[in-house]
Amino acid sequence: MKINVIGGGVVGCIQAIEFKRLGFDVAIYEKNNIGSGSTHSAAGIMYPLLPHLYDVEVYDFIHDSKTYYSILNKTIFELFDIDIEYFKSGMLVNIEDLKPLEEWLIKKKIEYNFKDYNGLTGIFIDDVYQINPKKLISGLFKYIKYLGIHIYENHHIKLNTKKQFTDDLNNVINGDKFVLTAGAWTSELNNQLSGKIYPIKGQLIEFENTSGLHLQHIIYKNNFYLLQRQNGSLIAGSTLENVGFNEDLSNDDLMMLREKAENIMPELKRHKVLNHWYGFRPGSKDNIPIIQQDSDNLNTFYNVGHFRYGISMAPATTKKLVNLL
Ligand SMILES: Cc1cc2nc3c(=O)[nH]c(=O)nc-3n(C[C@H](O)[C@H](O)[C@H](O)COP(=O)(O)OP(=O)(O)OC[C@H]3O[C@@H](n4cnc5c(N)ncnc54)[C@H](O)[C@@H]3O)c2cc1C
Repeated sequence: MKINVIGGGVVGCIQAIEFKRLGFDVAIYEKNNIGSGSTHSAAGIMYPLLPHLYDVEVYDFIHDSKTYYSILNKTIFELFDIDIEYFKSGMLVNIEDLKPLEEWLIKKKIEYNFKDYNGLTGIFIDDVYQINPKKLISGLFKYIKYLGIHIYENHHIKLNTKKQFTDDLNNVINGDKFVLTAGAWTSELNNQLSGKIYPIKGQLIEFENTSGLHLQHIIYKNNFYLLQRQNGSLIAGSTLENVGFNEDLSNDDLMMLREKAENIMPELKRHKVLNHWYGFRPGSKDNIPIIQQDSDNLNTFYNVGHFRYGISMAPATTKKLVNLL
């Protein structure tokens, strides 16, 4: 069976890997470069920021993806010497009312304690991992190539009036099944999904670290987080903007993110912002992805709408889709 995966973000790549493992002939079509969508822009926190506010399905998808990442981490390192920087850093959550989070952790039997960082007291959850999304993409790209998955970058796929998928030259793409993993752009390929999957822009900044600053854990404080990459740089974010595919990067947003970061770590006042970027998350109601077969085109399936947690959820959602085929 030939399966075409449309969209080469983290979901499409892991989806393709899982099909290939089952022995299918698999191709990925990507309109730009592998990983260049939301995946490239992410912070890489592998946990819901305020888990008690989400439907249990979101936590379960993330939880069920953990083992996959620890194996993928080893595999990519052994095969290609790429460290995707998947490691347990823990997360300190500082919000006004900690009680609901504490109750949720007790109910889920998740270990936690109270910790202080620079005068910020909050709940510390130890079992929280992070990853470097850009490194993950480099690793996934090499891995899908290594597995013999056909990769078609710079192929913008469209649906024609006969409900066939075509490339930029209007050639029909042949295959037995089509799996759409086109992230925030999915409704271009199926207008029934517009309104259900929509872009939510997010901006992040990255501080240089020339003075050996060390942030042991992810810090979350009132809709804002700060974390450290393994090269020492610090990532701060993010915005949540319902502005369509508006690509503007404003200095006001940069300053707002900088101020919040300095509020947590005053030493950052002496540090330059190296990078400022945005991405379009595939927004969905309650952050619950749509994983289903198309009701009209029975050869078409969707795995889309991972919103804020697509990297963390991808392995478990791809497994759910494999079971639908
Ligand atoms: C600022 C920010 C911070 C984030 N932080 C985190 C985090 O800490 N943890 C976490 O788990 N998640 C985080 N996310 C969310 C995460 O990035 C997304 O949920 C995830 O990347 C979605 O993956 P995807 O593969 O569905 O989409 P994408 O990565 O967007 O991939 C979809 C791909 O499909 C391609 N495509 C679209 N249409 C077509 C077409 N017609 N033909 C061919 N190709 C097409 C696009 O070019 C794109 O590459 C963050 C996102 C942002 C923006």
